[in-house]
Amino acid sequence: MLLLQLLLLPLCWAVEVKRPRGVSLSNHHFYDESKPFTCLDGTATIPFDQVNDDYCDCKDGSDEPGTAACPNGSFHCTNTGYKPLYILSSRVNDGVCDCCDGTDEYNSGTVCENSCREKGRKEKESLQQLAEVTREGFRLKKMLIEEWKTAREEKQSKLLELQSGKKSLEDQVETLRTAKEEAERPEKEAKDQHRKLWEEQQAAAKARREQELAASAFQELDDNMDGLVSLAELQTHPELDTDGDGGLSEEEAQALLSGDTQTDTTSFYDRVWAAIRDKYRSEVPPTDIPVPEVTEPKEEKPPVLPPTEEEEEEPEEEPEEEEEEEEEEEEAPPPLQPPQPPSPTEDEKMPPYDEETQAIIDAAQEARNKFEEVERSLKEMEESIRSLEQEISFDFGPSGEFAYLYSQCYELTTNEYVYRLCPFKLVSQKPKHGGSPTSLGTWGSWAGPEHDKFSAMKYEQGTGCWQGPNRSTTVRLLCGKETVVTSTTEPSRCEYLMELMTPAACSEPPPEAPSDGDHDEL
Ligand code: CA
Ligand code: CA
Repeated sequence: MLLLQLLLLPLCWAVEVKRPRGVSLSNHHFYDESKPFTCLDGTATIPFDQVNDDYCDCKDGSDEPGTAACPNGSFHCTNTGYKPLYILSSRVNDGVCDCCDGTDEYNSGTVCENSCREKGRKEKESLQQLAEVTREGFRLKKMLIEEWKTAREEKQSKLLELQSGKKSLEDQVETLRTAKEEAERPEKEAKDQHRKLWEEQQAAAKARREQELAASAFQELDDNMDGLVSLAELQTHPELDTDGDGGLSEEEAQALLSGDTQTDTTSFYDRVWAAIRDKYRSEVPPTDIPVPEVTEPKEEKPPVLPPTEEEEEEPEEEPEEEEEEEEEEEEAPPPLQPPQPPSPTEDEKMPPYDEETQAIIDAAQEARNKFEEVERSLKEMEESIRSLEQEISFDFGPSGEFAYLYSQCYELTTNEYVYRLCPFKLVSQKPKHGGSPTSLGTWGSWAGPEHDKFSAMKYEQGTGCWQGPNRSTTVRLLCGKETVVTSTTEPSRCEYLMELMTPAACSEPPPEAPSDGDHDEL
């Protein structure tokens, strides 16, 4: 202990070394009162009694270190117990305490308390705290590094497992695809066959109906029942008028008969019926209609109408025509035995598949289901592989210390907003009281300076600012024991700055200084 005091003594004296006011210890040898003084910039040499005489002689102000005489001079506070400080010479004796030791106010009447020791103590405390945080943070960082090493190995073996599983799943998908295609071929054939059959039936029914309609019209036209329809007989139906004058002239009638003067039932159906069917009106009065046939369509109508409305999207000509016909028939009901066409909707609906066809379809459906299920598993597996590969190859810092942030998100709530940082993914801002989030950028790159690349992250291409650039965010990483977003600001328009505290940003602390006692023993 005595040795220590002896060692410290010269230091204490050194602090007390005699030197002009406002001169630092390191500069005191320039101020030797036994010699003339040379300005520190070498521009002039003056008698020593002009130093601190409150008159500025040197251009650089060096002759007045302890007064306010030179505007560009500076005053040195020794601030024993804290940090030495240079202040502008204009602050000397200005009535404000600038030096913690109060030496700048030696002649102003202001009494300054010496707060250097207190300041020094506080600084030491905060330095100790900082050192403690760094030590603890660094300890955690080493754990994070170890954890990522283990996790990464696990992920790597999981990846290998998936990659080998993928091969067999791909084979399965191919096998099932073939099975599906093989099952779908007969399915298509059976369905086509079914549809074709139905269409043929429909076409036949339609032809039959037309023939029946034509036959009854012919019968009605053939007034003298000689098996022929003559021009005169045709002319009894003025609604067949073709030139719009309200009557059917002989010429018009002849034109309808393709130049002939009469027609028999066969050529009536082949050549005439199509030209007149839409205009033709039956003469038969309603009373002649057999009762059941009048009531039948009326009964059928209500259920028939709604579906036709629904089917408007794909209207076929047929139902429309028939509907019109039905309306007309209500005004002037059809002839003697009008073959009531079956309800159009009944006609349109394809009959259900027969058992055999249905079995083929079911088999194909089952093959499709199996194929799709395995194909879905394969896609999920590929997705897992992709995300694992991405995570494993990501740059998580020199030793992977930042990897633990990968699947996390951190929030900071301010008065107005909730800021959300999901490291390596995105930054967003959401109004605190509802509203949709605004993107402040998605992961871009590490963005620290060259020697300290991992001290900042850049998130880019966020939501565009109105008449401005896309939002972006720089995240500065600070050493801390915990992981927490400590601040968010917008230093320039649409460019955000966020601070994230994390142990991963702690650098190795300097080795703890050995205590003085230890030092002595060395
Ligand atoms: Ca002077
Ligand atoms: Ca002052």
